[in-house]
Amino acid sequence: ASAVDPKPIHRLEESLINRIAAGEIIHRPANALKELLENALDAGATQIKITAKDGGLKLLQIVDNGSGIRRADLPLLAARFCTSKLSTFSDLSKLQTYGFRGEALASISHVAHLNVVTKTREDSCAWRASYSDGLLAPAKAGTSADPKPCAGNDGTTIAVEDIFYNIPLGLRALKSPSDEYARILDVVQRYAIQPKRLLPVQEGMSSYRLPLLVLNSTYQTGSNTADVSTPSSRTVKSAIKTIYGPNVAKELLEAQAEAGPEDEFEWQAEAWLISANYHAKKPAFLLFINQSARLGLAFRASLDIDPSKVDVNVHPTKREVHFLDEEAITQKVADSMQVVLAANAQSRTFQYQT
Ligand code: ADP
Ligand code: MG
Repeated sequence: ASAVDPKPIHRLEESLINRIAAGEIIHRPANALKELLENALDAGATQIKITAKDGGLKLLQIVDNGSGIRRADLPLLAARFCTSKLSTFSDLSKLQTYGFRGEALASISHVAHLNVVTKTREDSCAWRASYSDGLLAPAKAGTSADPKPCAGNDGTTIAVEDIFYNIPLGLRALKSPSDEYARILDVVQRYAIQPKRLLPVQEGMSSYRLPLLVLNSTYQTGSNTADVSTPSSRTVKSAIKTIYGPNVAKELLEAQAEAGPEDEFEWQAEAWLISANYHAKKPAFLLFINQSARLGLAFRASLDIDPSKVDVNVHPTKREVHFLDEEAITQKVADSMQVVLAANAQSRTFQYQT
């Protein structure tokens, strides 16, 4: 017989449930940053400024010039499962945004102090609001929780302060501020090289341009030089040069692939790869499938597929995405890269011979 006596089952307290659920989405400052960056991009921001204090543990602030949030929507902003991006089940198959679950700000509000200043183009003033556990909360004890009018530019500023202040130390998976900062840097670098199509091409803009991203940290010296500042030309190639350096940019090759007559649906892929000439310390891999990214240095590709062929609903952080004909598409992308690499190798041989 078991030496353990059965214990009564009881329902966990609501606040505990929420905190546990939040911890599954937000393990560290870099996870929060990813969500906030995606929200800014979903809001059409073309300029995003990020500030991290103590590796984001003390403060993570994102200033965007996107659509802003209407005053009337502020009460639901940090409520779980509240979103402006999805209404019906069928909307899931034509998603053009990173977000749709309405879980990110809610999760952050359960594990950090969340402060928002936002202004739409129509509003004559900005609104300031604070959130705790999914709800509007007073910024100072004894004051009202209602949003307050204030001065501000068009767009949204979100500040996440003292993340995990309410999680017992032993349960935090965090490393040092410098380690957390390295992860923040990694996230910013990924989004600094987003492939085209993720941002709507704005009127008067001939082609897609990358968002301008600026990252500052006050972790080390409080110096004012940005750790990441994307090029104003905003092309993928110049962004790769800025992030990975001129040696990588010099060896950069571009491959393209698209659906053929035998394919059941349209797709296009764009791959950036480094020629064999460049010896990466650790070979890595980056693949963009619609809104999802996997990172690498030696290889970087973007796949444009009809959103209805992508199943993003696999994992809350979208670390896993499935798409139809995954194997066939991957094979074609790989083939197109082979061709580009072979051509590159051949032109090199000619160069050496002459
Ligand atoms: P989701 O992105 O899945 O909708 P979030 O919790 O990340 O859920 O955000 C909730 C909602 O808050 C969004 O649907 C959007 O309407 C609004 N929002 C969040 N961040 C911004 C922002 N930077 N600019 C404009 N609206 C925002
Ligand atoms: Mg979101």
